[in-house]
Amino acid sequence: MLFRSPQRPVFRLDQPIIITIDGPAGTGKSSVARQLAKRLGLDFLDTGAMYRAAAAIGLDHGIGLEHPAKLVDLVAKADLHFDWSQDPPTMLAWGASINDRIRDTDVTAIVSPIAGIPALREHMVRKQRIIGSQHPRLVTEGRDQGSVVFPDALVQFYLTASVQERARRRTQQLAAS
Ligand code: C5P
Repeated sequence: MLFRSPQRPVFRLDQPIIITIDGPAGTGKSSVARQLAKRLGLDFLDTGAMYRAAAAIGLDHGIGLEHPAKLVDLVAKADLHFDWSQDPPTMLAWGASINDRIRDTDVTAIVSPIAGIPALREHMVRKQRIIGSQHPRLVTEGRDQGSVVFPDALVQFYLTASVQERARRRTQQLAAS
């Protein structure tokens, strides 16, 4: 399949391509990224799941924001990665699925401040770039994917929505979890 955009030359979808979707919470990045990946036959990287995994690990080991270095160390030991044979890919820590745990309400409640730990972000950015090199045909979503992690990505979207719509989506997500 060929795609055209006004500023860029034609590119082929059977070649390496990274598509990033940045934007604030509640704008529908995950849903759009999943659908786009499916339609174009690309892998889908849920970077929010990685931060959720870090938050879950912290909670389950009694390590919070007051010990950021300890938390990053433990998250590194957990060797977070995805099982790409599943659709959507399953989040693994210490080789076991933590897909359900990372959607729990206690994780949702603390993931934002945990994701604000600079050393943790550095760790995740490194991991996400490795994933990008191993899965070079990728749709990846998260607030920093085009702006920080993959600044050279050929196609970069920034998704936004009204405050009302973002609040509505967030409430829906919380109710569902
Ligand atoms: O997308 P999801 O709600 O699962 O992401 C969980 C949280 O992780 C976000 O609310 C955000 O605070 C954080 N996050 C981040 N950077 C990313 C992805 C998620 O800070 N690339």
